[in-house]
Amino acid sequence: MRRELPPTAGLPLHLSDLLPRRADFGAALAGWLGIDEVQLECSGTAAMVVALHAMHRLRPGRDEVVVPAWTCPLVALAIHRVGLKPRLCDLAPDHFDLDPSALAASCGERTLAVVPTHLAGRVADVRQALAAARACGAYVLEDAAQALGARQDGRTVGLMGDAGFFSLAVGKGLTLYEGGVLMSRDPGLRRAFADSHREVIRPSLRWSMQRAVELMGYAIAYRPSLLYLAYGKPLRRALAENDPVAAVGDDFDTDIPLHPLGHWRQAVGSHALRRLPGFLETTRAQALRRLDALRALPGVTVFDDAPGTQGTWPFLLLTMPDAASRDAALAKLWTAGLGVSRLFIHALPDYGYLRDIVPGADLPHARDFAARSLTITNSPWLRDDEFMRIVECLRAVLPG
Ligand SMILES: *Cc1c(COP(=O)(O)O)cnc(C)c1O
Repeated sequence: MRRELPPTAGLPLHLSDLLPRRADFGAALAGWLGIDEVQLECSGTAAMVVALHAMHRLRPGRDEVVVPAWTCPLVALAIHRVGLKPRLCDLAPDHFDLDPSALAASCGERTLAVVPTHLAGRVADVRQALAAARACGAYVLEDAAQALGARQDGRTVGLMGDAGFFSLAVGKGLTLYEGGVLMSRDPGLRRAFADSHREVIRPSLRWSMQRAVELMGYAIAYRPSLLYLAYGKPLRRALAENDPVAAVGDDFDTDIPLHPLGHWRQAVGSHALRRLPGFLETTRAQALRRLDALRALPGVTVFDDAPGTQGTWPFLLLTMPDAASRDAALAKLWTAGLGVSRLFIHALPDYGYLRDIVPGADLPHARDFAARSLTITNSPWLRDDEFMRIVECLRAVLPG
């Protein structure tokens, strides 16, 4: 079987993690994060639905949620599910974070929440989001879906804003195939989130069975010898059909599952969690070793930790000097089995299936980022010689 690497550094499961046993995953996770408690949900999207539902109860006159224009389409679906409207904020030039002046212009008396987003494990500027939100009376909800384990000033991300959430979806580090973690430093908001959970979340035997089977499949197939079947083949089929949105799994169902996170999967999470700190150390060291080779490529931007922050390293996020070189790089690398891919294919208004949910807007920087960015897996399975092959391939397609 041909070797295929995953596009992100997921924590591999051991078959022994799957043995049924009692374990308090929420307490273990809160303990590791250094916070009082977390609220477990069935996905990051569900955590966002629960949080926004609660915030809307508390500030019912406000119906807009300010999000980066280049983010996970599920963010727009979560906002829509609560009956609110996404308000798209452009990115800063050649950056994944919100543009300061666009952010100020996006906030107003209708703003319920601002959502700074810790993409690719990098820590976003929450202070800037807080300043804009406080100026208009809105909450800050940190989207840390891709950043479980990331820290700012020595504390977990998600605490500087009013609330934050992590995703435990497949491909995001620690995974229960799907899962979400909601947190807040504010006891009043925590109570509101618990009430919101009771109102919004309904048991579903079908979903808990399906997710259990999917998690077992992940435990078996998440290895370079089997990922061609589970990931590589569907990827090549989608690309052959000219469907990059399906290729990266951006083609979400608008009907969001909202059910409790099952006990068996929580126990699996407790066991895998013990290996997460070591895994994050290994992947951090590997990423830091590899950044310089990418930085040496003229016109390439690679994202590192901002001062005072210590992010996680699921993959390396970079931009090429122009769209042509990015496309040329992907033409060679996307199907090379080396874990090179793209994050989100479009700025949010450019996904056909979001047309009725997301307003059209002039978003030059978000569209530019979508056209020039690519990702390189930071899985420990990517060997140094394979990484250098990727670097040489990028060098070969640089303009000029
Ligand atoms: C994956 C993701 C989400 C949604 O999390 P799920 O657990 O997949 O529902 C939200 N925001 C961002 C930035 C993501 O990458």
